[in-house]
Amino acid sequence: MNEQVFEYNNEEEAEIAQILAIQSNMNAVAAVQKKLAEQRAQPSLEECAECGEEIPQARREAIKGVQLCIVCQTRLERFKANYRQPGASTE
Ligand SMILES: [Zn+2]
Repeated sequence: MNEQVFEYNNEEEAEIAQILAIQSNMNAVAAVQKKLAEQRAQPSLEECAECGEEIPQARREAIKGVQLCIVCQTRLERFKANYRQPGASTE
């Protein structure tokens, strides 16, 4: 009888642990979404945050909260693509 109670508690604890893990995942996702929303709410930068080059006004108006010039943005995206699929594209 004691064993059964112990087992039940374990299951319940496992379930609670699972729920807590899901909740912390959801919190992490919410934090990222909030950060992205904040970035979008930011005014576009006049100069690239990476290299300091002036960002053309058309680009600033096209992309809300833009922080990088097209050169740095392209470099960053290429880097991210390589990071996601290492060795997939050697270009
Ligand atoms: Zn730049």
